[in-house]
Amino acid sequence: MKKNLPVLVTTALVVGLTVSPFQKAVASDAGESTTPDHGSHAKNVIFLIPDGFSTGYADSYRHFKQEGLPVWEEKDMLRGMVATHSADSKITDSAAAGTALATGTKTNNGMLGISPEGEDLETIVDLAGQAGKKNGLVATSTINHATPAAFAASVEGRSDYEEIANQFINHESIDLLLGGGREQYLPPEEGGIREDGANLITEAEEQGFTYLETKRDLLHEEAKDDAKYLGLFADDELMPSFGINTIEPSLGQMTSFAIDHLSQADEGFFLMVEGSQIDWAGHDNDAAYAMKDTEAFEEAVALSMDFAEKDGETLIVMVGDHDTGGLSIQPDDDYNPANLHNVKATGEQMMQKVDHSFSNLEEVVTENTSMSFTEDELTTIKESDDPKLALNTIVSEKAGMAWTSTDHTAIDVPIYAYGPHAEAFNGNIDNTDVFKGIKEALIN
Ligand SMILES: [Zn+2]
Repeated sequence: MKKNLPVLVTTALVVGLTVSPFQKAVASDAGESTTPDHGSHAKNVIFLIPDGFSTGYADSYRHFKQEGLPVWEEKDMLRGMVATHSADSKITDSAAAGTALATGTKTNNGMLGISPEGEDLETIVDLAGQAGKKNGLVATSTINHATPAAFAASVEGRSDYEEIANQFINHESIDLLLGGGREQYLPPEEGGIREDGANLITEAEEQGFTYLETKRDLLHEEAKDDAKYLGLFADDELMPSFGINTIEPSLGQMTSFAIDHLSQADEGFFLMVEGSQIDWAGHDNDAAYAMKDTEAFEEAVALSMDFAEKDGETLIVMVGDHDTGGLSIQPDDDYNPANLHNVKATGEQMMQKVDHSFSNLEEVVTENTSMSFTEDELTTIKESDDPKLALNTIVSEKAGMAWTSTDHTAIDVPIYAYGPHAEAFNGNIDNTDVFKGIKEALIN
C-alpha cells in the first residue's frame, strides 16, 4: 500500500470497492505521491529486464539482502502485474516475450521481431531512432541472445545468431551493444564460430563502431558523443556474478558506461539492460545463482535510478519477461535465503569439480557453499540422474526456497516504474501494454 492516500480513497479500499475506473484513480493518486511530476513525456527510457524474475524472486531477494530494501522497494516503484503468454502458448519463451515487450505484438515462441504471419515488426529501437534518439542494448548473456535480439533483429528462429549479429551491426538506430558473444562475430580462424567466415568486428568498425574487448577497455574509454560502441567481453556469455572477475565488466559497469555515453544525445535515448542469467539460475533451480545475479542486476537498477532522479526526464521501467522455475519461499530461523551469502559458485561449476566416482563431493560442496550436508543428502546427489539439479534442490532447501519447475511458468510478473508516465504501468496489464506505455512516454 502506498503512503498518503486521501482518506476517502483509503476508506473505499477498506470496504472492498472494486470498480476499475476508481481503482485507476487510486493508483494514479498514489503514483503522484512518490513520483516527481514532469508531465507524461520522457526524454529517455531505461528498460531493465531481469529475465525470469517474478514475485518469488522479489520476496526471496528481500530476505537475502538483509540490510536495507532492494532499490525497487526502497523507491516504491511497484506498479502492477504483467501477463506474459505468447501468441501460441500460455507459457512464453524469451523470444516471444522480448518481441511483445519490444514491439507490442505477441508472436509465437521462438520467433524474434516478426509476427506469427511472418511480417517484420517495428521495435521501440526503430521508433526511438526515427525520433532522433540514441539506442543501446546491454546484457550478461551473449548480446545476440533472445531478449536483446528482440529489440533490433527480425529472425524466424531465435538461434540464428549469425544473422542477428549481421542485423545488429547494420542497424541504423543502434549506437551501443555491450555483452558477451564474441565468437558469434568472428570466423573460426580468429577464434569464432561463424560459418559464413565473416569478421563482424571488422565490419562493425567499418560501420563506425569502436570495439571494446575487456573490462579495462570499457573502464578507460571516455565515452564520446559521436561514437558507437560494440563491447564483446567474453567468447560466449559473461561469467555468473560470483566474486570478482578481473577480465569481464559487471552489469553495473556496463550500464554506467551506457548511460554516460547515451545521455550525451541531445534528443534523448532508449537503453535496454538485461540481467540475463537470473533465468538460467531458475532453469537450474540454483537459488544462490539466482540471488547473486539479482544482486548484480540491482546495481544496474540503482545506477539507473540515480541518473533518473537527477535528470528528471527519464522513465525507468523494470519487468521480467516471464517467471522461471516457480520459486517459492518458506523461510524460518534455520532456513533463510540469507544462508546463500557464502555460496561461491553455481551448482554447475561445483559439479564440474566433482570427480566421476563422487569421491570429493562432500569436500567440493562444503567448501563452495559453507553449508554442511548429511550422508542422506550426499547419497541423494550421487544417486540422482541429474546430480547438479539434486545439489541445487538441496542448497535451495537449506535457504528455505523451493521450485516447482525447471522451465518458465505462466504466472504474472511484477512491473516496477519511476518517472514521467510511470502510471501507464498500473494495475493488471499485458506484456504488449509495456511497449505501449514506453512508446507513449518516449515518442511524440
Ligand atoms: Zn528461460
